[in-house]
Amino acid sequence: MAQIDQSKPVLVTGATGYVAGVLVKKLLEQGLTVHAPVRDAGNAEKLKYLNAIAENSPGAIKYFEADLLEEGSYDEAMQGCELVYHTASPFKLAVDDPQKDLIDPALKGTRNVLGSVNRTESVKRVVVTSSVAAIYSDNSDLDKIANGVFTEEHWNTGSSLTHNPYYYSKTLAEREAWEIQGKQNRWDLITINPSLVIGPGINPYATSESFHLIKQFGDGTLKAGMPKMGLGAVDVRDVAEAHYAAGFNANAHGRYLTSGHNSDMFELAQALMSKYGADYPIPKKVLPKWLVWMLGPIMDKAVTRTIVSRNVNRPFRADNTKVRDELGIEFRPLSESMNDFFGQMIEASIL
Ligand code: NAP
Repeated sequence: MAQIDQSKPVLVTGATGYVAGVLVKKLLEQGLTVHAPVRDAGNAEKLKYLNAIAENSPGAIKYFEADLLEEGSYDEAMQGCELVYHTASPFKLAVDDPQKDLIDPALKGTRNVLGSVNRTESVKRVVVTSSVAAIYSDNSDLDKIANGVFTEEHWNTGSSLTHNPYYYSKTLAEREAWEIQGKQNRWDLITINPSLVIGPGINPYATSESFHLIKQFGDGTLKAGMPKMGLGAVDVRDVAEAHYAAGFNANAHGRYLTSGHNSDMFELAQALMSKYGADYPIPKKVLPKWLVWMLGPIMDKAVTRTIVSRNVNRPFRADNTKVRDELGIEFRPLSESMNDFFGQMIEASIL
């Protein structure tokens, strides 16, 4: 049971990212000092969103230079920290080289950050941003489990370098984190396992896959229709709250499946219809599975026929009881997250 001293700095890896940005905002608003190891600490343009928040909040941010692939590069930033948030990991679905682009930064990065944790005596707790991708590979996995609902008990056993490699990267990284944590007893480990994160970030031009997916609802890519593919969705502000509570609630423990809504891609798009349907080409039609199976891989290399077979017209169901009961998270309505997210993209002229 780790009690974290709020006067000590807190380390956040990947602070320039979408999910971490909102977490850092929360930490700064709470008056904490954030140590932010980033790839390029001299890139003022990239850091301007974080700096603007720091200027208007009681907390402070200090940058360090580090890379997931460089062993020992998190050591300096970690000095004096009791709490470490490890969020940095690439979130991309279409990649050229899954080993180099996904697995290496996820797995070697986890080893590297936790290696620094092992060398840094002050650290008492590590919160890793994992994913529901470490819990399941395909919606068809629901057929194999008791009660047909994903929980923290489940692990993804179906992904590989060739099938859902992003999911594979998250599974390998989280397993490695538990393995490394299990070999010592100074620091405890908590994982936050979000489903698809949506909602406004601190940087409207972020490159996370979340932006790529939701932008397609308004840029005409899907105007002819889209598949109905079950997935979970959760607001980025709620994900930040879950990370915050996981860090500072002494009783927090284990994995937290952090998914606000059991939904599907088509339902996400329909949440935008009443406000934006008249002005933007929001998809109105569900495409038949056979058509998605035929054309999906041609239109998007991340959509293989196996993925279509195992996920399209199949629901996603997950149980979020643990994160609500133990961390006190109340999830925003899906329509609020979607409309705020879309609104931010319009305001930033992305749409
Ligand atoms: P993101 O905006 O792309 O953020 C990724 C972060 O990782 C960036 O700060 C990036 O730094 C950093 N990073 C990547 N490669 C690195 C390297 N070699 N060395 C150091 N830093 C590196 O993506 P995100 O959506 O916020 O994802 C953040 C975390 O949440 C990931 O662990 C992801 O798996 C998890 N997650 C995301 C979702 C979602 O729907 N968005 C859902 C579940 C879990 P640069 O800015 O320098 O590129």
